[in-house]
Amino acid sequence: MEKPMSYVQKHRSITQQRLANFLTGGQWKDVNIHASLNEAVARGHPSIELELWSAQAQERPTFAHAAEQQFSPIDVGHVFGPSWTTHWVRATIRIPKEFAGKQVRLMFDPSCEAMVWSAEGEPLQGITGSNDLGSRTDFILTSKARPDEAVRILYLEVACNGMFGNGESPNIAPPLENRQFTLKTAELAVWNADARALLQELTILRAIAKALPSDSPRAWQALATANEVINIYTVGDQKSIAAARAVSAKFFADKGGESNHQVYAIGNCHIDTAWLWPYDETKRKIARSWASQVDLMDRFPEYRFAASQAQQFEWLQTLYPSLFERVKEKAKAGQFIPIGGTWIEMDCNLPSGESLARQFLLGQRYFEKHFGVRSKIFWLPDTFGYSSQIPQIIRLSGSEYFYTQKLSWNNINKFPHTTFNWVGLDGSSVLTHMSPAETYTAGVSVEDLIGSLGKHKDVAYTNESLYLYGHGDGGGGPLADMLERLRYMGDVDGLPRVKHAHPNEFYEHVDKTAKGLVTWSGELYFELHRGTYTSQANTKKGNRQAELLLRDVEMLSVLAQSTAHGFAYPAAELERIWKLVCLNQFHDVLPGSSIEMVYRDCDVIYADVLGSAKAMKESAVMALFSHVAALSADTATGMLFVNTTGWPRTDVVAVPGLGCGDVQQMRKRDNARLVVAAAVPSCGVSVVDASSDTNTTGDSSIVPAGVYMDSDGNVVLENIFITAKIGSTNGQLVSLWDRRLERELVPQGAAGNVFRLHDDVPIFWDGWDIEIYNLEKFVELPGSKVTIVDEGPLLASVCVEVAISEQSRLRQWISLSATSPRLDFDCDVDWHENRKCLKVAFTWDIRSDMATYDTQFGVVQRPTHRNTSWEMAKFEVCAHKFADLSEYGYGVALLNDCKYGYSTLGSTMALSLLRAPKAPDANCDMGHHSFRYAVYPHKGSFNESSVVREAYQFNVPLVQLPVDVTTIDAVGIAPFFAVKDAPNVVIDTVKAAEDDARSVVIRLYESYGGHARATLTTSLKVARAQLTNILEEHISGAGVTASAAGTSSIKLSFRPFEIVTVKLDLNV
Ligand SMILES: [Zn+2]
Repeated sequence: MEKPMSYVQKHRSITQQRLANFLTGGQWKDVNIHASLNEAVARGHPSIELELWSAQAQERPTFAHAAEQQFSPIDVGHVFGPSWTTHWVRATIRIPKEFAGKQVRLMFDPSCEAMVWSAEGEPLQGITGSNDLGSRTDFILTSKARPDEAVRILYLEVACNGMFGNGESPNIAPPLENRQFTLKTAELAVWNADARALLQELTILRAIAKALPSDSPRAWQALATANEVINIYTVGDQKSIAAARAVSAKFFADKGGESNHQVYAIGNCHIDTAWLWPYDETKRKIARSWASQVDLMDRFPEYRFAASQAQQFEWLQTLYPSLFERVKEKAKAGQFIPIGGTWIEMDCNLPSGESLARQFLLGQRYFEKHFGVRSKIFWLPDTFGYSSQIPQIIRLSGSEYFYTQKLSWNNINKFPHTTFNWVGLDGSSVLTHMSPAETYTAGVSVEDLIGSLGKHKDVAYTNESLYLYGHGDGGGGPLADMLERLRYMGDVDGLPRVKHAHPNEFYEHVDKTAKGLVTWSGELYFELHRGTYTSQANTKKGNRQAELLLRDVEMLSVLAQSTAHGFAYPAAELERIWKLVCLNQFHDVLPGSSIEMVYRDCDVIYADVLGSAKAMKESAVMALFSHVAALSADTATGMLFVNTTGWPRTDVVAVPGLGCGDVQQMRKRDNARLVVAAAVPSCGVSVVDASSDTNTTGDSSIVPAGVYMDSDGNVVLENIFITAKIGSTNGQLVSLWDRRLERELVPQGAAGNVFRLHDDVPIFWDGWDIEIYNLEKFVELPGSKVTIVDEGPLLASVCVEVAISEQSRLRQWISLSATSPRLDFDCDVDWHENRKCLKVAFTWDIRSDMATYDTQFGVVQRPTHRNTSWEMAKFEVCAHKFADLSEYGYGVALLNDCKYGYSTLGSTMALSLLRAPKAPDANCDMGHHSFRYAVYPHKGSFNESSVVREAYQFNVPLVQLPVDVTTIDAVGIAPFFAVKDAPNVVIDTVKAAEDDARSVVIRLYESYGGHARATLTTSLKVARAQLTNILEEHISGAGVTASAAGTSSIKLSFRPFEIVTVKLDLNV
């Protein structure tokens, strides 16, 4: 008899179709592999009975609370809802006798997320309903049922949200209020392990046949093997499955060899700490996801899983202590890998330098305390851009390596490197890898592995890559079938070699073996999500205020503790507050890309943070100055000012608390009295005697500021430094004349303070993106009314009213004090727009190819032109307190008190003020806003200016305390801290040491990009000074010189943009 021939090579596409049909459900499921996947199933009474108790409203009760409640019977088909509610299902399970000897699973599919709990209250495993991609609906009841199995009870905590919250398609839409979830399945099942293994083998064979070049012998072998397997398989014949597996085993036995690309696979479940769900749901997502992963670690001893964000570990520790202990055991065994080193996976554009330092300080200390390890890798797969100081901060925080992949989302330029050395502002370098699979939620597919090889841009230098797999964003993580597939992929011809590994192993190997890696210098600018510098304005304002208020609190508390008896540094409360500030810096919260519920939580958190910080500040100030503080406003005869910036400063200050003496000036807007706080020393104190008039025009050194109308109908604000003309019909800055240099800054026909209302309709990511084409389409909004408010002598101001639209309006006060060339703009806005962006633009008679932007512990330069696509991509950029446009000899800075989005084109610099996206928060930024910006013209280029100081002063007001001047001996107290000989060195932070609150930690940085030799002086009695890293660990000693005047001096040297941390042990 003639042997039947195989038609594979003659009919490739037909064979591929045959294979596809064999693997999918649907119309052929009763004759293909799906007909064999279960050995037995038991449904309904008596095998499984269900009862229900539903929690009130959006409450998320504990197990203990839920288990005590009255439950009533339900059945499959029950509908859970509405969105965000919680329902506890009690399942009574009787395993049928005929299941004896078998592994038995509970199949439970509520269509949404759920947690399986034991009757004793132990969280066992997460459930993800089949509505979601990462569906996980099976739970192993026993690996070998006994014939006399006892009745068992399980609880299922059903949470009415999907993996991606409750948005309609697309899932970034605002959440639905009344989403319903149907209980689709509740049954007991015995799986056919061989049939399921065959399904995995055929899935891999099919993918290899498809992914390799069609003329490759290995692709043909894969297809022929699969075809033969289908020929052997017979439904209902277990022996045929074994025979088929023997055929596929031969294919997998062929090795690929040593020269193949090596993939280091690491499981993960990216859990956004808040995004399309609130923080409280995240706490449950962590438990669900990690419980599932701990279970997989039991079943797959080779499995390695990494999880970041110390905050998530702390929540687990507090809310799920027994699960936390299991995680710790798995960490000890090397399977569960705490990673990342930071408190949460934060945004890296918006937080201040000190915030980034605190993210590491809190994160690394937590991991070290609870897991005995510090993360060597800064792990940030999903953050929207990486500022240029990160390499130095990583190095100073005990890490060496950096991981991300987000730049693969760039929408203009393809990032050209995969494995490279990233060099930051100060020259610090970190080995960086961006996984070529371009995702952190890979599915362990052949397509990924082969495809990512083609996307690896540095294989010539290093033939290996990191592969992050597992469902994520909403958590979930790897599924068992991913781990099963990995068992076939270790070393098989046709695929890269894949191994489970700690990510350190990958980096250390590359570090040792890679030759000639390229270098990328400066920021890793993310060419997408440029709207995140502006969306959710109140959260950004809360963050800026919190950062700077905490700066004051810590410095004043250190001083109070060091100089006042009985004051204890509030270390525990400061740690609590810093954790909250860091929490809100999560990469979907501070950037403004979360749902409305998240921002209601943020409002509560910032109220707590700012309330507590103000109280701490007040108690530190009172401890420092209680002996001079006035008992009441009536007994105050003067005002004490504390300057927390590290240089002397002179401000015109509104003092609402001062009710005595001659009224020098009432400012109409807030009815405050104005005084001049002159030359308040660096980190020091001065007192203004309200009874004397040395602070008004009586002081010959102060030339009054004034306001008048000129012959062209402009309102003119003028002081000794500048003359600013405001168009009385439009509120725009039509002229800015520097009286010192006799120079006009506004070009003929141009203007400043021009409000532009842009269309703001991005391609998809509404809350995230400002798109380049929106810069083309805008209207200019002229002011409708300009009125003079303050006429001097200390402050001159005008009010401008601007109609933004029929629904929205803006009022601003433009003011000029007698003592500064800075022109301030205080704004109140009622904002009710739809996909609009409000910018304010200033055009200057200044020519430069580069503008300078404030960033963490330094500045970064970016182009003002659009020569290439890389420069064009930076059409909207992030800056902190200022941006500056300078040429040789002169420049102007645009300062702000809570904004972050700038765009500079040619000689026009614009600041983004407000946006109005509608997803994922339908009400984003609607309502009232107040914010400030300022124009600061300066002699010299940026490097010769004092813009850095001015921007601090604009953001950090002098601390005020009403005092009785008769009780004060000397007006003016020596600086607590100062920097001599280096105007480019900034004292950024003064705090108590983490491990010894009696020691003082001072963080300084070089702010302009040059070397410096500085002398730090302090009036505190210093016994010992040492240089430390951000974790406050000793690097080297520093010499202390004590002077006769009782001050101590410490000599410090800086390289450009270097961050220097000094720890002082004091003589007590
Ligand atoms: Zn994320």
